[in-house]
Amino acid sequence: MAAARWWPAAVLLVAWAGVPAVLAVWWQDTIPGSLRGSGDALAAAGRLSGLLAAYLLLLLVASMARIPWLENRVGSDVVARWHRALGEYTVLLAAAHAVLVVLGYARQSGTGPLAEAGTVLFHYPDVLLAAAGLGLLVLVGALSARAVRRRLRYETWYHLHLLVYPAAGLAFAHEFSVGADFSTSARNRLLWSGAHIAVALAVLVFRVALPLSRSVRHRLRVVRVVPEGPGVVSIHLAGRRLDELGAQAGQFARWRFLARGQWWQSHPYSLSAAPTPGHWRITVKDLGDSSAALARLRPGTRVWFEGPYGAFTARRRTPSRKVLLIAGGAGVTPIRALYETLPGRGDDVVLLYRASRPADLVLWSELQEIARSRGFALHPLLGPRSDGPDDPLSADRLRRTVPDAARRDVYLCGPDAMAEAVERQLRLVGVPRHRIHRETFAF
Ligand SMILES: Cc1cc2nc3c(=O)[nH]c(=O)nc-3n(C[C@H](O)[C@H](O)[C@H](O)COP(=O)(O)OP(=O)(O)OC[C@H]3O[C@@H](n4cnc5c(N)ncnc54)[C@H](O)[C@@H]3O)c2cc1C
Repeated sequence: MAAARWWPAAVLLVAWAGVPAVLAVWWQDTIPGSLRGSGDALAAAGRLSGLLAAYLLLLLVASMARIPWLENRVGSDVVARWHRALGEYTVLLAAAHAVLVVLGYARQSGTGPLAEAGTVLFHYPDVLLAAAGLGLLVLVGALSARAVRRRLRYETWYHLHLLVYPAAGLAFAHEFSVGADFSTSARNRLLWSGAHIAVALAVLVFRVALPLSRSVRHRLRVVRVVPEGPGVVSIHLAGRRLDELGAQAGQFARWRFLARGQWWQSHPYSLSAAPTPGHWRITVKDLGDSSAALARLRPGTRVWFEGPYGAFTARRRTPSRKVLLIAGGAGVTPIRALYETLPGRGDDVVLLYRASRPADLVLWSELQEIARSRGFALHPLLGPRSDGPDDPLSADRLRRTVPDAARRDVYLCGPDAMAEAVERQLRLVGVPRHRIHRETFAF
């Protein structure tokens, strides 16, 4: 059984272990018999939700620190999914903390909630800063709601999302000055500060220092831009000592092309050919302003990059099993690199490539060449999209095209809607979930 499969569960277990630790801190500082009335209960619930919100906020920031080990073992898409779920709970718990504490104190002192809110905000140390942090967190949460997110440009959403960092900073001070669990315990203060420093360092090292130093050291440049089909170009990149980075087929990086109008944004693209010590290649479909502009890149353009990242590699595979690769649209890029590099011969590797029409089968002649030289099977699946049994990726057709599909490891990459539909069909065919490895092109 592939060890890679256990990493997500192991990481989740460690993260969940923090929750009983937080509960223990809260319980230890809750004086027996102190919860006499509803005011005490509300304030204690407020303290608990505040502690949990602070812990989740720390995990939220850590999950986006781009720690290479997490990105490569667990997978960037899985970490991004956790991040989204964590974000929702963090905002809810932080808002509940503010409301419960104010209501609890109001009950205890016999004042109205509004007057109490004013007292807490303006007379308790650092609470005004924390309220500003909560405001930022709620704003980011609202912007991330699917209905709002869909209407925003990716770059607008991404840059506003960075407000989570000041939000975490603004909330920190009040945890020590008014948080009963920290103001009275030097040990808790030490542990809590240590955890924050570790996460802040991870962000600085992995999001800033490492990409900068790699970009400077490896001096990546555009060598040439090759049209591959309608709206699709390959960008060949050359650099020094790229082998030190251990890039693998199936991985991606975030690329920042230092050309006019492009240097301020970075976008993820997968390696579309097996990486070599001096040469990488990506293949990009024009889906918006930035991807379209890449067709106009000039040879010599410097490239900064973050990565390589991703767990969609041969490491995921169960060693003794044959492999079925399924690609759709731009999803062919990591699949093309895997097709070239996966071990085996003959029908050990089968590739199904779904497209509407022949012109959309980009990199097709390269795939044919690999199929010829390694003896691997290659099937173009053409035709308009359909959800019915006639779709070439329906369970029935899959069984006919690849009779032993249920016994294979499956690597799947394509547009989200297609990938979800195909995953359902694969399950009907009998492929267990843990043997379906999916790369998603949307975070
Ligand atoms: C891990 C990964 C690997 C990818 N590999 C490839 C590849 O090999 N070839 C390829 O053609 N495409 C790939 N993509 C998709 C590619 O990143 C987007 O198509 C590209 O960023 C679109 O940018 P745009 O400004 O041209 O389009 P926009 O119009 O801004 O966006 C088009 C779509 O791409 C999403 N998007 C935009 N910017 C980003 C970003 N920085 N990160 C994540 N999503 C973004 C938007 O939310 C929108 O859904 C990959 C995406 C991911 C997450």
